[in-house]
Amino acid sequence: MSEMKVTELFGSMVFNEDVMKQRLSGQCYKEWKKCVTDGTPLELSTAHEIANAMKDWALEKGATHYTHWFQPMTGVTAEKHDSFITPDGDTGRVLMQFSGKELVRGEPDASSFPSGGLRATFEARGYTAWDPKAFAFIKDGSLCIPTIFCSYSGQALDKKTPLLRSMDEISRQAVRIMKLFGNGGSNVKRVISQVGPEQEYFLIDKSVCERREDLLLTGRTLFGAKSPKSQELEDHYFGTIKPRVAEYMKDLEHELWKLGILAKTKHNEVAPAQHELAPIYTDANTACDHNQLTMEIMKNVAAKHGMVCLLHEKPFAGVNGSGKHDNWSLSTDTGLNLFKPGSTPSQNARFLLFLAAFLKGVDEYQELLRCTVAVPGNDHRLGAQEAPPAIISVFLGDELTAVVDSIVNGTEYVEQGKRFLSIGVDSLPSIPQDNTDRNRTSPLAFTGNKFEFRMLGSSQSITGPNIALNTIMAEELEQFADILEKAEDFSAALHDLIRNTFREHKRIIFNGNGYEQAWVEEAERRGLSNLTCTSDALKVYLQPKHIELFRKHGVFTEEELTARNEIHLENYCQVVGIEARTMVDMVRRDIFPAVSGYSAQVAGTIAGKRAVIADLDCSAEEKLLRRLSSLSAEMMKQCEALEAALAAPYGDNAYEAAHYCRYTIFEIMGSLRSAVDELETITAGDWWPYPSYAELLFSVK
Ligand code: ADP
Ligand code: MG
Repeated sequence: MSEMKVTELFGSMVFNEDVMKQRLSGQCYKEWKKCVTDGTPLELSTAHEIANAMKDWALEKGATHYTHWFQPMTGVTAEKHDSFITPDGDTGRVLMQFSGKELVRGEPDASSFPSGGLRATFEARGYTAWDPKAFAFIKDGSLCIPTIFCSYSGQALDKKTPLLRSMDEISRQAVRIMKLFGNGGSNVKRVISQVGPEQEYFLIDKSVCERREDLLLTGRTLFGAKSPKSQELEDHYFGTIKPRVAEYMKDLEHELWKLGILAKTKHNEVAPAQHELAPIYTDANTACDHNQLTMEIMKNVAAKHGMVCLLHEKPFAGVNGSGKHDNWSLSTDTGLNLFKPGSTPSQNARFLLFLAAFLKGVDEYQELLRCTVAVPGNDHRLGAQEAPPAIISVFLGDELTAVVDSIVNGTEYVEQGKRFLSIGVDSLPSIPQDNTDRNRTSPLAFTGNKFEFRMLGSSQSITGPNIALNTIMAEELEQFADILEKAEDFSAALHDLIRNTFREHKRIIFNGNGYEQAWVEEAERRGLSNLTCTSDALKVYLQPKHIELFRKHGVFTEEELTARNEIHLENYCQVVGIEARTMVDMVRRDIFPAVSGYSAQVAGTIAGKRAVIADLDCSAEEKLLRRLSSLSAEMMKQCEALEAALAAPYGDNAYEAAHYCRYTIFEIMGSLRSAVDELETITAGDWWPYPSYAELLFSVK
């Protein structure tokens, strides 16, 4: 495809600012723009004009329906399609219509979405409201209108509402800081959090995948002996992309580009069959919408290519799982990146202040950040030597750490001709941004002009982590602004604030190898939290400190936060329950019969051989038969234990239930799996009911 064609294709299915400029009256366009930049409400007449223009545009593109597109607490997107048709009087014909009212507000019968008890049944009908900041787009013949989803009393029932609230709040507080620095800072009206999520995924041949009940029902393999070859040779990472995968990636990019998604980089990842896609970063709101769309389209395009795209965090034991790197920064509406070390002393002072706020925030709210990546699939990755540990720390790299040290200690900074660093007076030494300084084991790495939050699971919505980053940062900047606005000597106050903050929160900085056991011990000495699983993390989700943080910044009410915790706990239990029941089903209906049949065959072989020659050496078969029988007995013992555990009471509340799922059910699942996986290695391939890891991981040629 020529360059020209890509530029035409890009955004062709998006009702973006360009299209609005062309299709709306000058007045209407101006009002929309004002609504987006200043938050002024839209008149219904304006909404009506926009709706009409949207509809005409959508009809020209072949759309017949529209839908409010929203992000309920399930973590995936929801849509309910209505056609544009309206009867044309008594003529028996139809008109295509779409009103401002339909654009602005919808009432999906959405009582089946999880609400964590927020919606009493008498007001079960939440409503959706248009988010004029996010562009409408056409997908599968429907005009999709990005909306928020709330209860009638205004409580957020979705993931977008709190994200927008957190973006407003970080903007408000960061603008206060910008004003203090003068020097162009006073022109800043808004500060926008910017996000670029790198998305990992697996591609498996559909016909192979369909033969695995576990992959179909749970997205991961619940059984599976290690393949003789997996990722040992490290020959897949950044390797040549296979033709079938290359075709898929090309198609995927085209679909994403049509929707204005800035798909930029594609490459093979560490595990066989694992790949990654990274977009160019954009504002957090758009990035979250786009990541949801990307995940959906990845799956759809895979189906067209006879493949299945697995977004689960750990589809295969023993090979690397998939995560998502959430690259996050703050930029002003005047185009400044606030995490970019500057070239003048004043810019550097500002940079150090934002850095100090970040370190303080991450240290104080490390458990909250941990909670935002607490999704069931992530339990298999975090701390498993393939993803960061469950301990939150920040990687700054040697240069920046030396700067922090020198500020803390008041000692000379050794690089660049031995000198003291005086904040606001000196320039920072240059901080390299190259790839050599990357530390892949860090959960939160400074990468030159942004932070990379690397703990996210590949399947999760990126809203939660970004809501937390925005709100934490807003809180720290607010505290800083309160101090600095009152200071008589700004420079002195700034210097003290930065130095004291670095001094108090230095423990959160860690540049070493996060995969080593030594770090776990060191982190414990430093008093850092280490919540190793979802059920443990969710226990600390509702700490008073967290409730207060979100309440104060208007991001979540206590009720909303409690509801979310409830939903996460419930989801965890459901996921574990589904996996456990799937295991039982696979064992009882496929694996046990197969092993039993194969054992009978082996027994028959022994008997047959002996019938011919009575003292024939059958020791190999006998040994095999004994092993098959004892493992089979062990398997059925664990299977029954699992059934019993599933049937027993889970506890009196959601916390106890999650704890029970993790420490009782999940443990038995592990024992059951060991027995089955060993059986797989000694059962004849023809008898084993499922494709092996080798078949799965090397299924796409
Ligand atoms: P890597 O070397 O890890 O691949 P890149 O610089 O290529 O890093 O960026 C990875 C992701 O980070 C991309 O999605 C990119 O758009 C995003 N990114 C780059 N700069 C920023 C920034 N200032 N804020 C947020 N995300 C960014
Ligand atoms: Mg990265």
